[in-house]
Amino acid sequence: MKIVLPEVASFIIETLENNGFECFAVGGCVRDSLSGRNVNDWDFTTNATPDEIENCFSSFTTIDIGKKYGTICVVIDNKNYEITTYRTDGDYADSRHPDSVTFSTTLSDDLSRRDFTINAIAYNDRVGLVDEYNGIRDLELGVIRCIGDPDVRFTEDALRILRALRFASTFGYSIEHNTSVSIINNRDRLSMVAPERINKELSKLLCGDHVDFILRRYRDVIAVFIPEVSSMFGFDQNSKHHNKDLWRHTVSAVKNTPPDEVLRTTMLLHDIGKPMTVFNDKKGASHFPNHQKLGAAMATTILKRLKYPSYFVNDVNTLIENHDNRIKPDTAEIKRYMRDLGTNIFSMLLSIQRADILAQSMYKREEKIGTLDKVLSEYLRILESDECYSLDSLAVNGKDIIHLGVQSGEIIGKILSELLNKVIEGKLPNTKEALLFYAKNII
Ligand code: ATP
Ligand code: MG
Repeated sequence: MKIVLPEVASFIIETLENNGFECFAVGGCVRDSLSGRNVNDWDFTTNATPDEIENCFSSFTTIDIGKKYGTICVVIDNKNYEITTYRTDGDYADSRHPDSVTFSTTLSDDLSRRDFTINAIAYNDRVGLVDEYNGIRDLELGVIRCIGDPDVRFTEDALRILRALRFASTFGYSIEHNTSVSIINNRDRLSMVAPERINKELSKLLCGDHVDFILRRYRDVIAVFIPEVSSMFGFDQNSKHHNKDLWRHTVSAVKNTPPDEVLRTTMLLHDIGKPMTVFNDKKGASHFPNHQKLGAAMATTILKRLKYPSYFVNDVNTLIENHDNRIKPDTAEIKRYMRDLGTNIFSMLLSIQRADILAQSMYKREEKIGTLDKVLSEYLRILESDECYSLDSLAVNGKDIIHLGVQSGEIIGKILSELLNKVIEGKLPNTKEALLFYAKNII
């Protein structure tokens, strides 16, 4: 196992060393380069204090992103690099930041504050790998293992519980037995963690290749910060369309969806309205009238509580509200969707519908997928053609209508959308002459 530092990382380390300090690449970057994964960002740890770091990089822009916690960000070629002073952390009473950090002079102290063995490996070209907790062995074994006593570490900062699940989900690693038991025992502590920290880890967890295993095995952990999911556990759907209970269906739908955080969060919550809307018909089959609408509203409440950005909440809401729509492979219908949802959300809708169908029983599967395929190919055809489906591509605009003598105001929008409807329905060609002629008549 060897590490080839990018030039900029060597530059940062050498700059500190030339000023008489120690510096190591540490954490995720070392972990990921040892295991041949793409490195997201290079982080560094040093015995220089924040002021000393700023002095060493005085010819660069530096950003004080948390001097109190020892972190200075250096901007090189428009990229940010975080350099943090060796430190040991106190408790995380507000579960956001450690209450107090103590700067230290030894790399060993700094490594001991880190969460898992695989995240506590340091490297520089001069010293080589520093691996005091057998992180390299655990990388080879594919194991997430706490440094020290898991109960103590999860009590200090409960976010580590979710981080363990996130790494297991993305890397497909197993969670070492004591760490796993402690995750279950300490899960309630997650309710004290700041929602902004939870949502970042949850998104990464959901986008992991092994998310299905984690959501099944650790569902009670998810239920700590989304208690609404527990009504899905073991919930019998009682329908020909389904061969799994609601949670297993949900997990399979998440896994079938491309690894995008909006899509996967949508699938996690898409059927959350089912348990509250269930009704059994005379034959004993269950139905869930309006579960899309209730589910969309519940998802909005959940995601706002977890402080997701509003674009994210809105997208998930729209997708859940529409997830069960039976879209016909009909040109006008598809254009109406493209107009109303926008092409971005519409293509996301098609993608989650496919994932949903593939998580259901085989009952009518071929028919459902066949229809969806036709919708998709007609949608792609419309996109590639220059056929009009939105006001942007309509052959007339507001100014043209004003030229006809209409006072500007709300009426202009009404006329334009009436014209767009006619074009979408195929009742008018999308040409200026035809549209203006028709507009004159309705005015
Ligand atoms: P990613 O690849 O997603 O960035 P990462 O492991 O680098 O994963 P970061 O949040 O960037 O995660 O954290 C960098 C390093 O800081 C971690 O590898 C770990 O050593 C340490 N760390 C981060 N969060 C915690 C925490 N809550 N408790 C202890 N150590 C942590
Ligand atoms: Mg990182």
